[in-house]
Amino acid sequence: MHKLMKRFVVIAALMATLAIPTTARAQTPHYDLLLKGGHVIDPANHLDAVMDVAVSKDKIVAVEKDIPLAQAGKVVNVSGLFVTPGLIDIHYHVGHGGAPLNWFAPEARVHEAPLGLLADLALQAGITTIVDAGSAGADTFLQEKEEVIDRSAVRVLAFLNIVADGMNGGLEQSVDQMDAKRCVETIRKYPDIIVGVKTAHYWTEDPWDAEHVPWMAVDRAEECGRLANVPVMFDFWPRPERTYAELILKKMRPGDIHTHVFAQQFPILLPGGKINPIMAEAHQRGVFFDVGHGAGSFWFRNAVPAVKQGFIPDSMSTDLHTGNYRVLSLTEVMSKFLSMGVPLNDLIRRSTVNPAHEIRRPELGTLSVGKEADIAVLEELHGRFGYIDCGYARMDGTAKLQARMTVRAGRILYDPSGLSMVQWEKARPQYFVMPAFGNSPPAKADDYPRDNKN
Ligand SMILES: [Zn+2]
Repeated sequence: MHKLMKRFVVIAALMATLAIPTTARAQTPHYDLLLKGGHVIDPANHLDAVMDVAVSKDKIVAVEKDIPLAQAGKVVNVSGLFVTPGLIDIHYHVGHGGAPLNWFAPEARVHEAPLGLLADLALQAGITTIVDAGSAGADTFLQEKEEVIDRSAVRVLAFLNIVADGMNGGLEQSVDQMDAKRCVETIRKYPDIIVGVKTAHYWTEDPWDAEHVPWMAVDRAEECGRLANVPVMFDFWPRPERTYAELILKKMRPGDIHTHVFAQQFPILLPGGKINPIMAEAHQRGVFFDVGHGAGSFWFRNAVPAVKQGFIPDSMSTDLHTGNYRVLSLTEVMSKFLSMGVPLNDLIRRSTVNPAHEIRRPELGTLSVGKEADIAVLEELHGRFGYIDCGYARMDGTAKLQARMTVRAGRILYDPSGLSMVQWEKARPQYFVMPAFGNSPPAKADDYPRDNKN
């Protein structure tokens, strides 16, 4: 044995004899973070009660009543607030938070306005997992992965666009780019990130021609979904030769997802106002319905009568992009449903365990002990609130949901009101020290490890 190694072994043995007996250690669990006194809603575990949630490192380690304060390094009082699994938004568009990297190069001047948003913006709505809905296809996915997905604090998964070039420059019309083989190859290469296939915006008004036949995009997306054994998410525009009923009753497989369900172009209500029976029939055969609110896919004239008749989409989602982030967030979408009378615990189910099930990631959307500590702390506000739809109509409501804190893999990444921070007068002494010239690391109020992105 190496001399140094030998010395290390001796020291280690000495330390072991001095250490506290293991039995005593087992009796005093230590938690890094304790969320105290919140109303826990965890539909996956049928929890809906005031409880404490304890986290160690990046995992949930206890969800119980009255966990003693002394057992935790950091205690956050969340009484009066709701503690839920980190929310999941399965329709999001990621990018650089604006311009592509070569935006300012002369050759880039013909680019359309960027679509994708900074992924971590999602943390502001209590979201810990987003799914990019087909911004990238087989040819552009690696760039999206390296430049955005790998650098995000929020977990980013993706539906791969059936069009190899993704949503770039109107190419969702190029049939030769809808290549099921390249789609499958890419999905198999990144099984940890890619959860399904996306098709969108295909041939909504131009006359059909030899290349552009009605079901081309749908059929190619289904072919890839079938071969890769993943669900397909559909953005769809019905036409006489391509009806909505045929899509949801025949073309879609059980487990596929129709997003934008309350958009203006779907006959989800019959002329008399009753919900179209095809919705229940499609649901019966395993088709999922998703909100995908977006800038043009949510009308109260569809949503309110449907919800009143008991049709609530399986999953809440935003379709957030640069064209709507000023007026939209997942909590805003949920607030609209809350104001339509959907109970909060049901909405949490449709924003956690349901979307996790749709993308076949059952380990997400739950506060189960042992799972990654992705947590949202939400507040339900009461008062007078106005909500808008994509036809610029307003609906008045009396409730609003707001994210107060977001924990991703055990780290507090969003806490704008300082729930987890000490009152400034009670900060530790070094907080009050004026830094010397040229030496100014932030003088923090406590020693709790934080990300500077707070
Ligand atoms: Zn979208």
